Amino acid sequence: MKYYSTRGRAEALTAGEAILKGIATDGGLYVPEKIPKVENLPAFMELDYKELAFEIFKLYLTDYTHAGLRDCVDQAYSTFDTQEVAPLVKRGGKYFLELFHGRTFAFKDVALSILPHFQRLAAKDGDKRLILVATSGDTGKAALEGFTDVPGVNVIVFYPQEGVSPVQKRQMQTHRGGNTFVVGVQGNFDDTQTEVKQIFTDDEMKRIFSENKIRLSSANSINIGRFVPQIVYYFYAYAQLLRAKEIEPGEAVDFTVPTGNFGNILAGYYAKKMGLPIANLICTTNDNKVLYDFFTTGVYDKNREFFATISPSMDILVSSNLERLLYNICGSAQEISSLMASFSKTGRFEFNHSLEGMLSHFATEEETLNAIKTLYDETGYVIDTHTAVGVAAYSKLDENLSRVNVFVSTASPFKFAGDVCKALGYPGASKAEERLAELMDVSVPERIAELSKLPIIHERVCTRNQMKEAVREIMKV
Ligand SMILES: *Cc1c(COP(=O)(O)O)cnc(C)c1O
Repeated sequence: MKYYSTRGRAEALTAGEAILKGIATDGGLYVPEKIPKVENLPAFMELDYKELAFEIFKLYLTDYTHAGLRDCVDQAYSTFDTQEVAPLVKRGGKYFLELFHGRTFAFKDVALSILPHFQRLAAKDGDKRLILVATSGDTGKAALEGFTDVPGVNVIVFYPQEGVSPVQKRQMQTHRGGNTFVVGVQGNFDDTQTEVKQIFTDDEMKRIFSENKIRLSSANSINIGRFVPQIVYYFYAYAQLLRAKEIEPGEAVDFTVPTGNFGNILAGYYAKKMGLPIANLICTTNDNKVLYDFFTTGVYDKNREFFATISPSMDILVSSNLERLLYNICGSAQEISSLMASFSKTGRFEFNHSLEGMLSHFATEEETLNAIKTLYDETGYVIDTHTAVGVAAYSKLDENLSRVNVFVSTASPFKFAGDVCKALGYPGASKAEERLAELMDVSVPERIAELSKLPIIHERVCTRNQMKEAVREIMKV
């Protein structure tokens, strides 16, 4: 399987090469030459999470050995607190696919626990690698966990200083590991992400890195090593519905996904194209509803006010992975190139193809808080502020929907305890995590409880324009 750039002017790569590289030299994103079809879906439905992951990786990462892939899967998914990795739970007649059982309590762990292993197998001995990450909150810590103490690798994480939750910030600032660096940026996530992409394609930076024999690599969801692992849990959710006899074999279901950079929901689109019976993929957004506007009008326009919301990991106006969806729909790198050229000039583009099977709605802050409260009152189950965007927005759809919908649950409520407590009627609760634990009748997860006791290690802050300089200083080049 070869991987091609969505913009058509970069060389085709193997999976391993694309996973090391991240973004293509022409600024495009790598996509597989074709989306593989699953030949025997019923057999897939019998597998446990690790076996299923292995089968799906075999279809995409064809240059890896089977033994290598098995090893990646074993190492990555043994770090989860449940063998199921992605358990499906039913509460009050709703299905939630819990993707937050990894080490950092958000769905990013599913991919970022395995990406370092994929890269390790693809790297040549002696390569020095630098992983540059822009995070809206959750990717940063998950990447730090995944790459800490991997030999020959340094990680620099840039996060928007005022755009992450207190737990997210603390998780990153207290992170230990001699090869990890964390820098706050005075700006929002879009500024941070745009500048990181810029560093990847900047000629001077390229020269400096190559002189110093440093290979630059990305852990953002533009890396195919990120979205391939995310395909697995859509299949696994369906398998769990079948096993619990909640659906008939072959019955099409919907998935509702709280969306930011479009990586998670894109994996659902791939699952559908591979043959999983999915009717609708529902892209839900917070007040930064650039994607909702796009799916309902065909016009993508980032020229608008940016809101810092209680679902910060979705506070995004430039949704990178959408480019892959558009490419898969229109099939023309030339068309994507010209859309993206116009986008970088004007911040706007129009897409005139059918977006069938993709639905969208958004939720306001108040609707999001209410969704948390209502579900808790009815069932005692607590969801985080991102998952709640999905629940609230779904309830506003008036299209024809499938009988069964799965809410993709992207983070543990403990990660956003302050706002979750507010939703439940305890605004400004001091020690929100403890309060939440009482309300949920569980104890605060150890990795969150310890955060307040750990020393702050990373205090560095810079402006967007100083990010290149920060990279050079940290790498001493
Ligand atoms: C990253 C993230 C999202 C958005 O996912 P995308 O793949 O960027 O669309 C939603 N919720 C949480 C908790 C996240 O960390």
